[in-house]
Amino acid sequence: MPFPATWKLWQQHPRVVGYSLACVAAVVLLTAVFARIRPPAQEDLAPLVILAGLGVLQAELGRQVERVRRRLSGSPYITMSSAWTFAAVLVVPPTLVAALVAVLYLHLGLRSWYRLHRVPPFRTTNNACCVILSCYAASAVLLATGVEDMATAISAGWWGAGAVLAALVVQFVVNAVLILPARNDIGRTPRQLFGGWADNGLDLATLCVGVFNGVALTTLPGLVVLAVPVVLLLHRVVLLVSQLEAAATRDGKTGVLNPAGWRTRAEAALARTERARTGLGLLMIDLDHFKQVNDTHGHPAGDAVLKAIATTITRSVRDHNDAVGRYGGEEFVVALPDIEPAGIAIVAERIRHAVSQLAVEAGTEERPRTITGLSVSVGTAASPAGGATLDALIRVADGALYEAKHAGRNRVVPGVSA
Ligand code: GH3
Ligand code: MG
Ligand code: MG
Repeated sequence: MPFPATWKLWQQHPRVVGYSLACVAAVVLLTAVFARIRPPAQEDLAPLVILAGLGVLQAELGRQVERVRRRLSGSPYITMSSAWTFAAVLVVPPTLVAALVAVLYLHLGLRSWYRLHRVPPFRTTNNACCVILSCYAASAVLLATGVEDMATAISAGWWGAGAVLAALVVQFVVNAVLILPARNDIGRTPRQLFGGWADNGLDLATLCVGVFNGVALTTLPGLVVLAVPVVLLLHRVVLLVSQLEAAATRDGKTGVLNPAGWRTRAEAALARTERARTGLGLLMIDLDHFKQVNDTHGHPAGDAVLKAIATTITRSVRDHNDAVGRYGGEEFVVALPDIEPAGIAIVAERIRHAVSQLAVEAGTEERPRTITGLSVSVGTAASPAGGATLDALIRVADGALYEAKHAGRNRVVPGVSA
């Protein structure tokens, strides 16, 4: 990021640019305000240095975990840094909290996000600004309740505990809301936006660790080191949960849903479209003469083709609602909720055409080969006309697929209900 003119920020949607700049402006303004209300003192430096040191240490030790976890869940913005930043909210003046966030995010941005995921610097900056603003919101709660820091909270008893809890909730909510506008270009479903329960639970649990760190720093500062293994283990457990979730619903070879995972999604979509009185489309897709691919190029090449076909199908449908699954060996199913019957054939044609254009790189480094000339046959079904249950729809689409094969393959045949 040498010159401002070449920053990636300027290539973003004007809304993202405006939002990012507004966040920076808000941080600058509020920092000036807080610097006047609660100027930092010299004794605040020691806890700040401890928290920065431990935060950097934990991020370094957690890099490996984060590398795998992000690839799996696709939500690159969970950090464990609130264990340190929220502790700072509770023990040092707000402006120093901002300094801590800046140090930790500069480190994260350079060491993890940029190197592992090519996250552009403006995103890291925007994330840091959002965190600072949510910390400021928590600090404002503390100031408003008259519980300036953890020492005051401890002497205030229940009132102090209530103030700390309120600050925690405000920090969590403000952060979840603040990062929304910046993320519009990445995720669309609430789950993609806010993360799953595991991600949010992780955020909350990390904030709770932050509270204990605040207590430790105020009473027995040496004990704050004990938070490092706790935070690392939390991180790792969340990784394991997402791995298990992925293993339970995904097909390992192609990355699309496995039959059980697909059925759960498709049943839910069917029930929803019934209530909404929209339609659900179903595609049954079978590769043509796939046995020949295996026979000519070998099974590993056949696997590469399967994976490429799965990716092509996934890219040819809308990404948020449509469920793509592997039904059997070289058969895929797609559930298309909220679609007009006429739209189903269009999607099917789009997939058929995209597959016909595919050039799959298979083979080895010494003997590279490109497989082309692939095709699929597709049978479709549409609810409610094609049937009220998923199994009825599958039967209709399967019958249509059989017809497509008999009519010469590489075509789409709409199903008619019996
Ligand atoms: P058709 O056009 O009639 O569908 O012909 P086809 O050759 O595609 O159909 P057939 O049912 O005769 O053969 C399907 C082949 O798919 C046979 C099987 O070896 C292969 N297959 C199934 N699962 C896998 C897999 O996971 N990997 C690979 N490489 N091949 C698979
Ligand atoms: Mg086949
Ligand atoms: Mg088949």
